[in-house]
Amino acid sequence: MTTFNVLTAEFLHETNTFCKFPTTSATFAERGLLFGDAAVAARRDHNTEIAGFLDAGHAYGWNVIHTISAHAQPAGPVTREAFDTLTAHIIDAARVHLGQLHGILLGLHGAMVLDFCDDGEGELLRRLRAVVGPGLPIGITLDPHANVSRAMCDLADIIVSFKTYPHTDMRVAARHASDVLQRTMTGEIRPRTLRVTRPMLEEANGGRTDVGPMLERLARARAYEKEPDVFVVSVNGAFPNADIAEVGPSVLVTAQGDMARHAAFASELADDIWARRHETINKYHTVTQAAAICKAYPTDSKGPIIVADYADNPGGGTYGDSTALLAALLDAGVQGACFGPMVDPETVVQLQGHAPGDKVDILLGGKTDARFGGAPLKLSCTLVSLSANGDYVGSGAMIGGLHRSWGPLAVIRVDGIEILVVSIRAQMLDLQQFQAFGIDPEKKRIVALKSMQHFRAAFEPIAGEVIVCDSGALCTLDYAVLPFSKVPRPVLPLDKAIDIEDWLRRNNNGVYVPGGRSGAA
Ligand SMILES: [Zn+2]
Repeated sequence: MTTFNVLTAEFLHETNTFCKFPTTSATFAERGLLFGDAAVAARRDHNTEIAGFLDAGHAYGWNVIHTISAHAQPAGPVTREAFDTLTAHIIDAARVHLGQLHGILLGLHGAMVLDFCDDGEGELLRRLRAVVGPGLPIGITLDPHANVSRAMCDLADIIVSFKTYPHTDMRVAARHASDVLQRTMTGEIRPRTLRVTRPMLEEANGGRTDVGPMLERLARARAYEKEPDVFVVSVNGAFPNADIAEVGPSVLVTAQGDMARHAAFASELADDIWARRHETINKYHTVTQAAAICKAYPTDSKGPIIVADYADNPGGGTYGDSTALLAALLDAGVQGACFGPMVDPETVVQLQGHAPGDKVDILLGGKTDARFGGAPLKLSCTLVSLSANGDYVGSGAMIGGLHRSWGPLAVIRVDGIEILVVSIRAQMLDLQQFQAFGIDPEKKRIVALKSMQHFRAAFEPIAGEVIVCDSGALCTLDYAVLPFSKVPRPVLPLDKAIDIEDWLRRNNNGVYVPGGRSGAA
């Protein structure tokens, strides 16, 4: 029996093209840039793509050659320097092992934009195909916030998106892609991936899978995956903060045989995404409304009220220094609250010159772009504690066991609110992000945090109530304030009245089926 040699990599970035911070090699180094065995050692036993690839490798007796695991906090476009450097590790390894490789597995995001190309994953696959040729099977995993391009469908044989948001099935999705790759490498199957889209920036609920219509779609997807010649069905909610031509939700089917039948199935799901485009589950409060609800939250409630700032989610490439919600909570005079994160490295440096217990006058947050989420707040705070590195280890379903860092941080108190002031942007999605620094959200009455949806995995179990607000930061739902120019029009929600029949006629019914690559196996 042949031992298959499989090259693997993780290279993930979600790009908010409206974020003014470029994503550089240093940005990747800040979050996590690991090579070969070191990447495997750090990520093998956790909820990661590489863990799923290696689970399969173990089961099938593969020789797995892992190249890099590169992740960066979502931000602006990836620079050419960073992209060239990181992809070179993957491309060079493919070149070194050329002739001995049987397959490639890549853990990607699907919404990476480069400063010289709008389709980062497509460009990576193009460079890889240029070395390995058209025939070598390539499987990729995607985050369901992917904006899937035609090039990705052309150049990868197998595409598997996570089926959860909050994302908790990275390892499962990677195993799924690996299992399909195994059958492809043995010659049993010859998969291709088709794509169906509709003219919208994102699915109505951003792809939420804890409640709502996406659950029904995924149930249908799983049922169709059991049909003959069907290997994967992926339903992507998309990432809307991307001013690119190929933005928006998609349904993918990785299959063989009667592609017209598979396209018809995918179209049914895409039609459902379109038909239910106004079925929004979240009620998006203003910050003033949110603060009033928090203020009125009964003191004898079982568990805190969680108030999430949807718009200033650093996990969507925002600055994490929006002050609007904090200002509203302070104005309302709430007690027993915590707030985090407030990304403000300058203030952290200032506070490092003080000792716990000191009263310090600060200018907090709002420094990056006050148009999105409010101006700096002039506050008098009490320094509670400092951490020189801000390191923590996740404990929840998303990042359990993984090492992460806020960078140098300070915990301060202003009136009734303890505030986590950090140096490195990240979204709040794990209790340890507070607890490791002495803030226990379970003992608070009000927990204010910056996240759209991922926070639910760890914070809903401790919550008495959950509300969501829009602070007007960079991930605001008011898309009209963002300077879209490349997105093809009409598109929802920038254009209200769209003649969908006309759009379907002009866009091949939204269906893209890749032709075979010449020379493909
Ligand atoms: Zn995502």
